[in-house]
Amino acid sequence: MSATIATQAPAREATEWTPEKLFREIPSWMELLKSDQSDEEVRHELLTRIHTIQVEHEFPEQWYSDLEEITVRDCARSLRAIFKLRNERRAGFELLPALRDLAKGNERSDLSPAFIADLVHLFRGLQRQTGLYEHVIAESDLEGREAALARSEQLDEVWERATAFMSRYKHGLMPEVIEKRESNRTGILEAFSATLEDWNSARWQFRHVARTAEQLEAMTPLTPDERECIRFATANRIPFGVTPFYASLMDVEPESTDDRAIRAQVIPPANYLDEMVAHRDDREWAFDFMLERDTSPIDLITRRYPAIVILKPYNSCPQICVYCQRNWEIEECLAPHAMADPESLSRAIEWIREHPAIREVLVTGGDPLVMSDRRIRDILQKLADIDHIERIRIGTRLPVTAPMRITHSLVNMLARFVIPGRREICVVTHVEHPYEVNPDMVAAVHRLRLAGISVYNQLVYTFYNSRRFEAALLRRLLRLSLIDPYYTFGTKGKAETRNYRVPMARIVQESKEEARLLPGLARTDEAVYNVPRLGKNYIRAWQHRDLIAILSDGSRLYEFHPWEKKLLNQQTYFGTDTPILDYLERLREIGEDPKEYESIWYYY
Ligand code: SF4
Repeated sequence: MSATIATQAPAREATEWTPEKLFREIPSWMELLKSDQSDEEVRHELLTRIHTIQVEHEFPEQWYSDLEEITVRDCARSLRAIFKLRNERRAGFELLPALRDLAKGNERSDLSPAFIADLVHLFRGLQRQTGLYEHVIAESDLEGREAALARSEQLDEVWERATAFMSRYKHGLMPEVIEKRESNRTGILEAFSATLEDWNSARWQFRHVARTAEQLEAMTPLTPDERECIRFATANRIPFGVTPFYASLMDVEPESTDDRAIRAQVIPPANYLDEMVAHRDDREWAFDFMLERDTSPIDLITRRYPAIVILKPYNSCPQICVYCQRNWEIEECLAPHAMADPESLSRAIEWIREHPAIREVLVTGGDPLVMSDRRIRDILQKLADIDHIERIRIGTRLPVTAPMRITHSLVNMLARFVIPGRREICVVTHVEHPYEVNPDMVAAVHRLRLAGISVYNQLVYTFYNSRRFEAALLRRLLRLSLIDPYYTFGTKGKAETRNYRVPMARIVQESKEEARLLPGLARTDEAVYNVPRLGKNYIRAWQHRDLIAILSDGSRLYEFHPWEKKLLNQQTYFGTDTPILDYLERLREIGEDPKEYESIWYYY
């Protein structure tokens, strides 16, 4: 048996990402970059050199780790792509002249350390210097049971490492966390002179949504920054809201960081607020990243795929997620005029009836479960009366923000629309972090499942759930809560949500090195990037995108292929990522060791 395993890279030298460091990686290129030859001659020579390394990699004189060879191939491919004239033009950034300036010592203050760091790693990969495969397991002649035992031991070690990471994170099903939250709930009820019966009423929750810093502070302590940001949001009419139930998931100890993801979910950061204010009057144009305006054939309907449409009968929520895709549309938490007018709704449903290609309707908004049971039933009944509708999907975050809304009567009403073999009803929820999981949510989902309603989760992969094995732990908890992981969304390039963004390379790294370790049923989610107008684009394979540039600030530029690329002649989409070095530095600021993430550089 022969095996190689990747282990963590050894500690690297103190990291200063200077041009000197870059040129130490490629001393033999210096002369060429400094030469008097034209850019096009130099480009031709560089591409030839990369090609030569690629060919040598196919027929190496010395035998290296197979995985190191694959990295050589990946880096060569990426370098060839970013040096191509076509891609430089598409990117609007000239890489070769930039490198020539650096080599000649010309001032290029626009080139950031993150830009240099990404190139350094590309060159390291090209020269088999990643450090990822230094601990190669020697060839083994074990066979049969002995080989299996050795392999089993190796797998135990891999899982041990995974659980060591997962044990760093607290989750909401731990007895001490449950106890803490019961105490939070008692404190909130006292503040409102309310009862447990009130607490268990969704209507009471909605009536007591915190819409100001003072109201939230009556339920949970805030830092001065948080208070300031919420005050600014309310003063500028930027949607903000937190249900008492969600507030009870926040820690009251000022030093706690366990609830970081929960607070980040609803408390807007300063740069988000600045963008929202700057685009107060053109929000619809500035923030409609998915270009719903170009994909809505009739009011209240969005269509991006052949067989499914989105129907939006209610466009508000009892709690506002900062990075909400529809922040251009949601004007206020539980806005009084959020319900669609009956005529528009009837026309939208009639439009669905006239389009037999549509087999599934996603009822979303906003959060449609804020509507009364009667309204929901009326909408579902009209959809159920359409012969070609096979599935009705309800998008809601209420299992997390107000699970008491999932009452027996609501569940029974939904269940009446399930006809095995004919029509399915399912719920797609949005749990973001292990700390959000809680016993009330689990009980609500159980009620749905017992009634024959399947429940799925859409995870938005943000900075706040992207530490090593953080999302893997969430997937395990979701499955134990009878929820199937469905999609993991890469954060979109919305300027106002840059605090939440995670590089594409981290999403791929997570799915390869963390999610992959879980049993198949716990990692049923597909990682996707939402392309404006066209919709979800898988990101697990190079078949779906190309790296075409590394921009001066270190962000990678990808060319995404449309999902229907072999069916219809659609345009590709160019999306800018967030710089890997900046992401790693932010992780360092919250106590992570960037070396634990070192292989991120070698995903493209
Ligand atoms: S629950 Fe969904 S629609 Fe509502 S604010 Fe959050 S992301 Fe937006």
